[in-house]
Amino acid sequence: MTPLVFKGHPVPYITAWTAEPIPLPRVTADAQGLGLLGHARDGDGVLWRPFGLRQGMGRPEYGTVHGPRQRRCMRRLLCQVCGCPADRDERGWLWLLEDHRGERGWPEGEVTTHPPVCRPCAGVAARLCPHLRDNVVAVRVARPVVDAVYGQFYKLGRPFSPVAGERGVALISDPAVQWMLGGQLAASLMDVTIVDLAELGETGPQAEQWPDAAAPVS
Ligand SMILES: [Zn+2]
Repeated sequence: MTPLVFKGHPVPYITAWTAEPIPLPRVTADAQGLGLLGHARDGDGVLWRPFGLRQGMGRPEYGTVHGPRQRRCMRRLLCQVCGCPADRDERGWLWLLEDHRGERGWPEGEVTTHPPVCRPCAGVAARLCPHLRDNVVAVRVARPVVDAVYGQFYKLGRPFSPVAGERGVALISDPAVQWMLGGQLAASLMDVTIVDLAELGETGPQAEQWPDAAAPVS
């Protein structure tokens, strides 16, 4: 699968298009936590912010992650750029991370909302994402554990109307998820091996099509 193209530039699979964000339905609250008018929690008990599914319609919103496609990538370990299966070798799936090698123990246990990548997309993703540019490390992850949610926490206002609070990550098993409007899945990266980005090789003709000054993927 190749990424969709807009004005000559490939658009990452997890990027939202202008036709996809929809107005947030009314947020409600009861003793069990948040509710969203017309929407139910999923089988894990997570309430997700709804999105339209109109990939390719309108313009890409490079700064907005399309929640359902991001979650699909995390659950199935698909490339965040093209949506095909992420690269995997005997050391695990391929991930690109912001370089924190100065921190003790890093990157074992790193929690990320960025899905993995396939090999042809690795080089271009490193250049496209501002948080990775000039500060990227490639890793292989033998055991990605997708067990957390990134989203918007709410607290009870008066009378019983929820008020948006901070954004953050909570384990799906954490009761705090009851008070969160979920946006993306987060993975804990376990059994991680740092690899040489150069060993992945060049990325082929796609690389030439990427905008140099693209806005964030996520
Ligand atoms: Zn890819």
